Amino acid sequence: MIRFYNVTKVYPNGAKALVDVTFTLNRGEFVFVVGPSGAGKTTLAKLIYREELPTRGQVIFNGKNIARLRPREVSLLRRQVGMVFQDFRLLPRKTVFENVALALEITGQPWREIKKRVPEVLSRVGLLSKANSFPYQLSGGEQQRVCLARALVNRPALVIADEPTGNLDAENARELIRLLLEINRDGTTVLMATHALDIVNVLQKRVIALDEGRLVEYAMQESYRYGT
Ligand code: ADP
Ligand code: ADP
Repeated sequence: MIRFYNVTKVYPNGAKALVDVTFTLNRGEFVFVVGPSGAGKTTLAKLIYREELPTRGQVIFNGKNIARLRPREVSLLRRQVGMVFQDFRLLPRKTVFENVALALEITGQPWREIKKRVPEVLSRVGLLSKANSFPYQLSGGEQQRVCLARALVNRPALVIADEPTGNLDAENARELIRLLLEINRDGTTVLMATHALDIVNVLQKRVIALDEGRLVEYAMQESYRYGT
């Protein structure tokens, strides 16, 4: 689904965020991206979403070099990718329903489709009863599940979650991971950037490890090698 070929990203200020990164993400996979702060995890996500372009190398999405996409194709790419952020990024003056509905309005879905799909996806993340609440009325865990619902409502092929449990307590983090595993089982590819190595080590999924922008070997600690 996604291939990075020798991707280097240097920001205008000279910061080398990624250096010669090559990997493949297959359809249906659940992959973690790990590495210390500043390792390049967010940059990797932004390159897939085409929020940034590589300085050198190529990012291929479904066989196409995303640097060469026309504006219409960029919209199509973004419709196939749902983003979940550490800081939720919900609109404070809109209800839960409206926050999720907006993602469908932007892609031009008719009202009858919105009326059907928003409650479906809210019930999937366990928040149907909060449809008319505002973000400030929700706990952090609930806000993150609204963010996930918004990412899922366009039925993306890929969900990118950037440090999604960074602002959650252990219990809410577990619930969010459970939901991500569930949508992955249902066929959605998941790429999750995280610092939470305890989660990574327990789940035994493929790991892309970065350090100062370079791919490195991920050494799982023996003490974590037990079943899920
Ligand atoms: P991570 O998500 O792993 O913390 P980032 O991708 O955010 O890593 O950052 C990788 C490197 O690129 C860091 O050195 C960071 O300071 C730099 N960087 C990230 N975004 C920008 C930007 N917009 N402009 C300049 N430098 C940036
Ligand atoms: P947490 O301990 O996970 O942060 P909270 O104590 O923030 O949870 O919230 C617990 C429950 O109370 C949640 O279901 C949340 O939706 C509800 N709640 C929290 N703040 C408000 C509020 N200002 N108005 C209405 N409901 C709220």
